[in-house]
Amino acid sequence: MKFLFRALCCAFLLFSAGRAAGSTPPTAPANIAATRPTTPLLLISIDGFRADYLERGISPTLRMLADGGVRAQAMEPAFPSLTFPNHYTLVTGEYPDHHGIVDNSMFDPQLGTFRLDLRKAVGDGRWWDEAEPIWVTADKQGLHTATMFWPGSEARIHGYRPDHWRPYNGKMPYDARVDTILHWLDLPGRQRPDFLSLYFEGVDTAGHFYGPDSPELNDAIRQVDAALARLVAGLRQRGLYDKINLIVLADHGMAATPPNQRIVLDRLIDASHARVVSTGAIAGIIPAPGHAAELEAALLKPHAHMTCWKKSRIPARLHYGRNPRVPPLVCSARVGWLITSSRIAMLHHGKPVHGEHGYDNAAPQMRALFLAHGPGFRRHAVVPEFPNVDVYPLMAHLLGIKPQPNDGNFGQVKDMLRPAAR
Ligand code: AMP
Ligand code: ZN
Ligand code: ZN
Repeated sequence: MKFLFRALCCAFLLFSAGRAAGSTPPTAPANIAATRPTTPLLLISIDGFRADYLERGISPTLRMLADGGVRAQAMEPAFPSLTFPNHYTLVTGEYPDHHGIVDNSMFDPQLGTFRLDLRKAVGDGRWWDEAEPIWVTADKQGLHTATMFWPGSEARIHGYRPDHWRPYNGKMPYDARVDTILHWLDLPGRQRPDFLSLYFEGVDTAGHFYGPDSPELNDAIRQVDAALARLVAGLRQRGLYDKINLIVLADHGMAATPPNQRIVLDRLIDASHARVVSTGAIAGIIPAPGHAAELEAALLKPHAHMTCWKKSRIPARLHYGRNPRVPPLVCSARVGWLITSSRIAMLHHGKPVHGEHGYDNAAPQMRALFLAHGPGFRRHAVVPEFPNVDVYPLMAHLLGIKPQPNDGNFGQVKDMLRPAAR
């Protein structure tokens, strides 16, 4: 008994300090869970979790959720298959061309440079306000919202932020993220959020550093699965496991990028005649004044391992090129190749790259995980692949809110729901 008291007490202290890694999950205050009339929706992103990783048999919690709920054979990301464009597509239902986060790295004549590591830009609502994310719409319609990280959640968009949010910190232990979600679910009465998000980056990071077929990537899968096991245990302990809708998905997949597969841009163009806004699986190029014809001549001709377009000529199926933030010239590398420059080695957070995404969203390697579990969803169901713009209308339906105009199609995903929830 004494031991139990001490364990609970320690768990509480660790939790309140926000450093709960390795501890037992916090216990629920009595009589709080499951008193809310609406069913909360928790959207979980495992960055870079390719659809087929689930078949590796090393993620028992994901498997359990999939078996007890709905799994899509795969989910198609939007083009370009990059983190920020796709996370914003998931919460707006709009293609990147429509929501304005057209790349992880952007240049806008008014706003300047956008990059993931530029905290000020990432938190500046003017980059995000071409669309309205679901937490803003939900808030406007009287619901409560909480984000345990999500691209855009740090910015004030149309005057709104989530009711609870945290500045992005990739070093925050997974357990502490999960415990924060559980803590928010313990909030009494109407304070309990109706929409919540949770984000994990480790699978994507391992995919970049070590490649999609590495033992390190499998370790990262096991780590995220353990965090989800903690979440499930905390939900069960609160009597919430069958009373919350969980959507677990990824923003894109991952392709191996062998070191000999590089396209060196400045061997093709004079880089001093252009602003190269982004490189990697996709490159965005703004010709310097007076150099458009020269750059077009060099880039628009056929290349063995990439295709370049003028933005007005990008194939319609990619839904990309109308937004003013899309650079005048866009190059898309063949899967497994990287567009780089001889001056910069291809690095991800300072380390050489062994895996990448951002490729044509039709590529099988870019396919993302999608599964869902809870009272709104069918059980033991597998549905065909669908595009990720459809997640937004699905979520709006589950929350009972009127969605913003979007590119998704609820009709395509409503079969995932139990008949009573359609
Ligand atoms: P990518 O470069 O497309 O692989 O993006 C993945 C990276 O995005 C992660 O490793 C994080 O460093 C970063 N990231 C994810 N979410 C956020 C966020 N909310 N704010 C800033 N950076 C983020
Ligand atoms: Zn990503
Ligand atoms: Zn990535």
